[in-house]
Amino acid sequence: MAFTLPKLEYAYNALEPYIDARTMEIHHTKHHQAYIDNLNKAIAGTDAEKLSIEEICRNVSQYPVAVRNNGGGHYNHTMFWQWMAPNAGGEPIGEIGQAIIKTFQSFDNFKTQFSQAAMGRFGSGWAWLIVDANKNLVIGSTPNQDNPLMDVSELKGTPVLGIDVWEHAYYLHYQNRRADYVNAFYNVINWKKVNELYLNAIK
Ligand code: MN
Repeated sequence: MAFTLPKLEYAYNALEPYIDARTMEIHHTKHHQAYIDNLNKAIAGTDAEKLSIEEICRNVSQYPVAVRNNGGGHYNHTMFWQWMAPNAGGEPIGEIGQAIIKTFQSFDNFKTQFSQAAMGRFGSGWAWLIVDANKNLVIGSTPNQDNPLMDVSELKGTPVLGIDVWEHAYYLHYQNRRADYVNAFYNVINWKKVNELYLNAIK
């Protein structure tokens, strides 16, 4: 079965003023759709058509590079839309809030390290908060459309939060000011979803 574009749970303008409607619409309907179309082309007629996107990512070294790039693009964006929400942001809640304080001493320290990962990724890629094999929270980044599920990734674990730092994610509104975009992201983080993913990952 072919992969399809997931619907957003909020309107394109719902994350303003932090993420503008035009960026959201192009990012969702053009960029994400293109990853899906190219992924579907790359796996057409192969056994990968029967797999979930997570399963494909976990064994991505077995596929052509188009599957790595576009399969990563599909997984990463599917999660990214859920990592943001209107009327969200602020301090993390629930078990993820406690784990962030325990791991990084304070929410401010967490933000400093997460922003450093986002700013330090040269060129295009993603910054992540993951649960690693020892159930610890770890911050890191990956290039291009790689993600920490991938067997080819240096950073390995279950993503519970990620930020897209490709220029297409911020250029219309922020131009070259990636730092302003990263700072704005803290106002739209859907901590409820992050907490759900965290609880699943530590089971
Ligand atoms: Mn993107």
